[in-house]
Amino acid sequence: MAARSKACERIPYASNLSRGVIALFIGGFHNDAMGVTFSYDRVRGSQDDALKIRRAVSLLETIIVLFIIGLMMALLFPAMQAARHRALAFQCENNLNQLSLALSQSIATTKRFPQPNRWTVDLLRWMEEVPLADSIPPVIPKGAVFSRPKPMQCPNQYDEHSTVPNVETCDYVLMVDRPITYESQNRVGWRIVDRPVIEAKDAHDPWYIGPEITSAQEQVMFTSRQGPHQSGLYYDSLGQTHPDK
Ligand SMILES: [Zn+2]
Repeated sequence: MAARSKACERIPYASNLSRGVIALFIGGFHNDAMGVTFSYDRVRGSQDDALKIRRAVSLLETIIVLFIIGLMMALLFPAMQAARHRALAFQCENNLNQLSLALSQSIATTKRFPQPNRWTVDLLRWMEEVPLADSIPPVIPKGAVFSRPKPMQCPNQYDEHSTVPNVETCDYVLMVDRPITYESQNRVGWRIVDRPVIEAKDAHDPWYIGPEITSAQEQVMFTSRQGPHQSGLYYDSLGQTHPDK
């Protein structure tokens, strides 16, 4: 030990860590220089001891690592779930904005409000779906197959097929009190809102028959049915959630 301390004293500017390393290095040589010999049995015995100690530490380390992983999972899982729900809600809000903007532009351009159950078709030209709009006739034949535009799917809703094979339903509903005209639309108001979690008993019209409800039906829907989002919430095109949080 004396040799180690002296060696360290000779290097005044070395850091504590480098001093330790140097002391160990010199100490190893010092033992050899003192003629300390190890028999085979002693070496083997010390290796066995080292192995025993090593095994015990490995088990402890494994337990600690597993505990830390479990703790991190327990902490991260709810945060990841919340982030996922937030991302899906954000996507739904984007859909609602896109549909609402397209419907507003359609009303402003044509100077009329869409006919009943026709809003999902009338807005197509204002949401980059011109070829699809062109292919849909004014009177849609029963059982016609047209693929649903992406913004009409809420990411949190069950993806239900309609009564027409290979045609999905529209996951959003138009709330409007008819009769409504171009002049009265700002006074009466309308908005697009999530549908409740779709059940077997619900109408499974294809997306091109736009679902509609009145404001009174909307109130009943908010109180009696669960919305598709976390905690049963509904989102609407005015940026509100229902029932109010
Ligand atoms: Zn939604």
